[in-house]
Amino acid sequence: MYPVKAYAAASSSSDLAPYSFERRDLLADDILIDILYCGICHSDIHVVHNDWGGAQYPVVPGHEIIGKVKAVGSGVTKFQPGDTVGVGCLVDSCQDCDSCHSGYEQYCSNGNTGTYNAPDKISGGYTKGGYSDKIVVKESFVLRIPDNLDLRAAAPLLCAGITTWSPLKHWNVKRGDKVGIIGLGGLGHMAVKFAHAMGAEVTMITTSPEKGADARKLGADKILLSNDPVAMKQHSHSFDFLLNTIPVGHDPNPYIMLLKRDATMVFVGALEPLRDLNSRLLIGKRKNVAGSLIGGIRETQEMLDFCGQHNIVSDVEVIAMQDVNKAYERVMKADVKYRFVIDMSTL
Ligand code: NAP
Ligand code: ZN
Repeated sequence: MYPVKAYAAASSSSDLAPYSFERRDLLADDILIDILYCGICHSDIHVVHNDWGGAQYPVVPGHEIIGKVKAVGSGVTKFQPGDTVGVGCLVDSCQDCDSCHSGYEQYCSNGNTGTYNAPDKISGGYTKGGYSDKIVVKESFVLRIPDNLDLRAAAPLLCAGITTWSPLKHWNVKRGDKVGIIGLGGLGHMAVKFAHAMGAEVTMITTSPEKGADARKLGADKILLSNDPVAMKQHSHSFDFLLNTIPVGHDPNPYIMLLKRDATMVFVGALEPLRDLNSRLLIGKRKNVAGSLIGGIRETQEMLDFCGQHNIVSDVEVIAMQDVNKAYERVMKADVKYRFVIDMSTL
């Protein structure tokens, strides 16, 4: 077993605090990773606060992990000690169902294993994530990080990156499409970068006028203030695709109004009932609403390789582990530019 230093939440109302535990000994297909950096996803905060139910304390969050391979099991073929690797939101799945065979382990029919707070089918108990100095992960869930990327800024690609890449690809966003990204936080800023790199005309749809200049630097062509009803009306029926990253329940109808005939809005943020969705707005122009969960391992590697080729990383504020609780408060106030990343050497 490997002793691990970490930060954990002991209950839904406690701050994160130092915590120690052990990782399993390496099985033949396991990799031991020394964690260098871990991003802070808004999902970490939802789970710590038990917003979605099912939190198993102590919770060690973190699923945007970058590290170096320290040791490999006897059957590992794709990685060796010293390699720079990443681990995202998944550490296991059945690898035998339709979804797994199709490369969509996140939709595993037998239940995927999340990187933290998920029943751990290998070691028992619940998985513990990347706010820690070491992790043991099955080779098939470990990603290769392109050499040219800044490792601190690459960490958020493992969740914010893939969660926005996957729907942009699945709904076939292409050159010239008019795409709106709703919410400029961790996910939103990656979505703007990707949609721009795919050649779309990108509109940042935000509640925060002061983020406009940043949105343009990230690749947005236009800014639309969602709390300005006149501006929203002017953009009625004009978008080919919308990606909605709002992290809480909200009224979806003003956004549905923005879609063209046959166009789709994909929810990735709010994981809860949405108020009064008006089906008339969908029926009237054959519009679609859909959802999307992170991404599979194959598409995560494709996204990372694309980022390597196009030099795309996140805009990050690197913090010490001891500042994690302050960072959580800022994320909840939508005051993050645009992802916090924890430097694990401070643990
Ligand atoms: P984040 O960094 O906090 O960004 C969310 C942004 O949404 C904020 O910066 C803000 O942008 C906007 N916003 C916040 N509250 C709002 C409100 N009440 N009404 C309208 N807009 C609001 O969060 P994140 O890390 O990007 O995550 C976003 C959500 O996606 C979270 O709920 C997270 O759990 C979820 N998530 C889902 C998946 C998945 O697989 N589907 C994966 C990862 C994360 P503006 O200031 O620009 O308005
Ligand atoms: Zn996440």
